[in-house]
Amino acid sequence: MKIRGLLAIWAAKAAGAVCRRMGRQGVTWAGKIALKIDPSILEELSGQVRKKIFVVCGTNGKTTTNNLLCAALEAEGAKVVCNHTGSNMLNGVAAAFVLEAGLNGKIDADYACIEADEASTRYIFPPLQPDYMILTNLFRDQLDRYGEIDITMNILKEMIQKVDKMTLIVNGDDALSAFLAQETGKPCVTYGILEKTVKEEGTEIREGRFCKKCGTKLEYRFYHYSQLGDYYCPGCGFERPHLDYGAEAVKLGDQISFTVEDRRLVADYKGFYNVYNLLAAYAAGRSAGLKLEHFNEMLRKFHPENGRMEQFRMGQTGITLNLAKNPAGFNQNIAAVMQDTNPKDIIIVINDNAQDGRDISWLWDVDFDRFQEESIHSITVSGIRCQDMRLRLKYVDIPSILEADVETAIRDRIRDGVGNLYVLVNYTALFSTRNILKKIEGEKK
Ligand SMILES: [Zn+2]
Repeated sequence: MKIRGLLAIWAAKAAGAVCRRMGRQGVTWAGKIALKIDPSILEELSGQVRKKIFVVCGTNGKTTTNNLLCAALEAEGAKVVCNHTGSNMLNGVAAAFVLEAGLNGKIDADYACIEADEASTRYIFPPLQPDYMILTNLFRDQLDRYGEIDITMNILKEMIQKVDKMTLIVNGDDALSAFLAQETGKPCVTYGILEKTVKEEGTEIREGRFCKKCGTKLEYRFYHYSQLGDYYCPGCGFERPHLDYGAEAVKLGDQISFTVEDRRLVADYKGFYNVYNLLAAYAAGRSAGLKLEHFNEMLRKFHPENGRMEQFRMGQTGITLNLAKNPAGFNQNIAAVMQDTNPKDIIIVINDNAQDGRDISWLWDVDFDRFQEESIHSITVSGIRCQDMRLRLKYVDIPSILEADVETAIRDRIRDGVGNLYVLVNYTALFSTRNILKKIEGEKK
């Protein structure tokens, strides 16, 4: 490696050591410094990966899927570079490689698992040249982040076509992802769920309800949530592709289990959407030729990342913290909460900082009326936009307690609640809320 690359690594490592205490922000800084000193550092370091480079894109489930895949590869004895913290723009991706490199500029890795922000693929794909791209789904994200879903799809299509030898691993149950994969003409591996598993038909919006090929309204043999399901177009014959990795006998509850390739996979997490995350990671590992004999063993030890159904306990109260940043994510969150039939208190924290998207009109696309159930003891609205959240609930005749301060809201419900508390937060509320819960948990010990 040239001296310039070495300098970039040394400077970034020095900065990283100082900044790591700052968490995600610090990691991003290390990457920024490295790229400033040597703009080709990402290309140089990723070129040293011995086997394959995976990239995970998609609206929801990126971080969980990427971390699952990384853990699955490590369980097979492989060495992996991974941007675990979810810093998924260019600087964060560069940081993952730079901080993994030795002072001699060498990386000791069989694989790389990289989560990439869709709009940032422009800067990440050319230097990285991934072998596999996993596309989890395409949902409508916060309205004003990068505009319409079509813009995201166009960026992805362009970038996918620019990487020579890349195989796509795509959620076949998502008409938008499947269509995009088809359009690129790239080799494609699909995964999905072979049978109907969710009972009630939600009233959720389905972003991809019209056929991208001919504009006809898609029909569904069955569907799971959002636009995911077994779809077909009466107009042009576009339909869900054959599923290479199809899940059967899906069981949900406190655990998730399903069968794929005659194997029973079992995970200790709630949330139907995690079936897709597990399938995506499994399909990716298998596509790369691994047997994944230790997949279940890995799942027993795997903890979803911070704030995804993360459990806390304070005295007699069990608390579950979960992030939701868009309508699809929120609806799945509500479904997961309602799977728990025990009496519960709920706190919803909504902020509108830059990273959340200033426009919170998406709240009107979430099925909050599902909270009209006897098992709900109370709902508290909190965060910067608690008034809007209160109004949204009022619209479906659900009363709520207003408490703008998150810490006060949590302490109040620990004091007067039923001992089973769910805290649902959007993006920028996650880290502060998590810190509050850590602090309170510490006091009670
Ligand atoms: Zn059609």
